[in-house]
Amino acid sequence: MLSALVHGNELCGAWALKAFLASGLRPRRGTLTLAFCNLAAFDRFDADNYLPSRFVDEDLNRVWSADKLADANSCERRRAAELLPWIEQADWLMDFHSMTTSDVPLQLTGVQQRNIDLALKLGAPANLIADAGHAAGVRMRDYGRFGAPGDNGTRSLLIECGFHGANEARDVAMDQMARFLIEADTLNRDEVPSGWLAPDAPHQQALRVTQAISTPSGKFRFAQPWVGLECLDAGTLIGWEEDEPVVAPYDNCVLIMPSLATVRPGVTVLRLAQAIS
Ligand SMILES: [Zn+2]
Repeated sequence: MLSALVHGNELCGAWALKAFLASGLRPRRGTLTLAFCNLAAFDRFDADNYLPSRFVDEDLNRVWSADKLADANSCERRRAAELLPWIEQADWLMDFHSMTTSDVPLQLTGVQQRNIDLALKLGAPANLIADAGHAAGVRMRDYGRFGAPGDNGTRSLLIECGFHGANEARDVAMDQMARFLIEADTLNRDEVPSGWLAPDAPHQQALRVTQAISTPSGKFRFAQPWVGLECLDAGTLIGWEEDEPVVAPYDNCVLIMPSLATVRPGVTVLRLAQAIS
């Protein structure tokens, strides 16, 4: 399964899926599902003011738990219920996203080793982030079997392709789609149209997220205009939760996806990570 537009303002995955459909390719083995997920949010897309079309009522990528799915009190939960049968029958999932502050692609693998291994096999992008998700709710790629420990045959990756709407983010999405379909044995490598695959990353590094910083007050401020992947010494001031300073807790502390774009009480504003040795 390839999923796009979980966030309605993140176009790169939709471009990749559109290219796949236009190519006329068919899965050589197995079944391939292409999902354009939050169409209600995408319908509100405005290139001059694109952040509000991330979602309609709530973040579609925080509702993937039984309690929220059973309580269909938002546009996104009703859409999640429609998507659920497709998610449940998928064994491998790649979910395409883009970012607000950074143009450096990040593969969010989750914490299961099977997904870290797959991300390394894909050979790109350079940066892998093993993260446990968000306090505000469960992501689609962690739902049900996808989040279970051990190797149950599932694989799920969430690729942050780059900056929202950037052509480079579309290129990353195309490359990741091709790599994923080859590795899933859905397509043979020689069937992939020319121009889809980019060169391998010269070196891949895996970072393990040690903590997610959320903002109970919804008033978090950053001390500098961080863009992500900065590597800080212990004690470096990162920002303030209300008036409380937040500092790097250890040396070689890497900032992951700092964002105040949708800041409200309880939202994750930043993750901290260290290299997996
Ligand atoms: Zn997203």
